[in-house]
Amino acid sequence: MTGCDDFELLPRPERLDGDVIWLVFHQGQVLLTEQMGLPTENIHRFCSEASVIEHYLGKVGGAHCVTVELPADANLPDGHRGYDIRQLLGIFDERRFMLASRAAQVLAWYRNHRFCSRCGTQTSPHISDRAMVCSVCEYRQYPRITPCVIMLVLRDGKALLAHSARFNSQMFSCLAGFMEAGETAEQAVHREVLEETGIRIHNLRYHGSQSWPFPHSLMLGFSAEFLSGDISLDDDELTAADWFSPDNLPMIPPPGSIARSLIDDWLSKEQLPEQDWPKQ
Ligand SMILES: [Zn+2]
Repeated sequence: MTGCDDFELLPRPERLDGDVIWLVFHQGQVLLTEQMGLPTENIHRFCSEASVIEHYLGKVGGAHCVTVELPADANLPDGHRGYDIRQLLGIFDERRFMLASRAAQVLAWYRNHRFCSRCGTQTSPHISDRAMVCSVCEYRQYPRITPCVIMLVLRDGKALLAHSARFNSQMFSCLAGFMEAGETAEQAVHREVLEETGIRIHNLRYHGSQSWPFPHSLMLGFSAEFLSGDISLDDDELTAADWFSPDNLPMIPPPGSIARSLIDDWLSKEQLPEQDWPKQ
């Protein structure tokens, strides 16, 4: 993934001069206009009336970005409706998806850390850091970010793709899994591939990362080459896995996901003679 180079992670200024982009959530969904745009007008007045907490996210393209979560019983502004963020994958460009992802995770952090997890006292926001602070034991709770590895394993011009027991479609995707405490990303890639398919790999290459707000993952993408082994499924995780060639692919993840980016990157290289592969 390319990231969003014009995103500035800044403290909130005293006044929001200039353009403001509102990421407005209601019952877990982000509100969009009828043209699938983010609200820009009148929403500030509406939000103030609803007495919601604003969370400043930074600036993108020179515009301030602010997120709010409306009360469950709020009357939604005319001409807007809510969408699950997952629905917006492939509809939103990378910048807007990143903003929605960031907003959703900040709101979840605020919602889920109202009390100190150490002593149970009610918390309050830190004056400058994005942390909920306990007034008794001073324990700070920051937004939770859960690192995951996702990897495309390649063998003789074919890619290892799997159908997860969690998928509700016939889609096949890259292998993926959560990192364990104390583990490096590379160790996690080796372990997950071995655990889920019985395959040993080598020649890992870092591809890129993506914030994945379901609910607070950071996906670290790798490609790797087959080393040894036969496919032996972890039945709790996968219902099928196989080696697929570019001309015989199953249903794959939608554009906008790092899984699709890994697959597209492989496909683009498969179309080149090997000596012309981009240098890593
Ligand atoms: Zn405490």
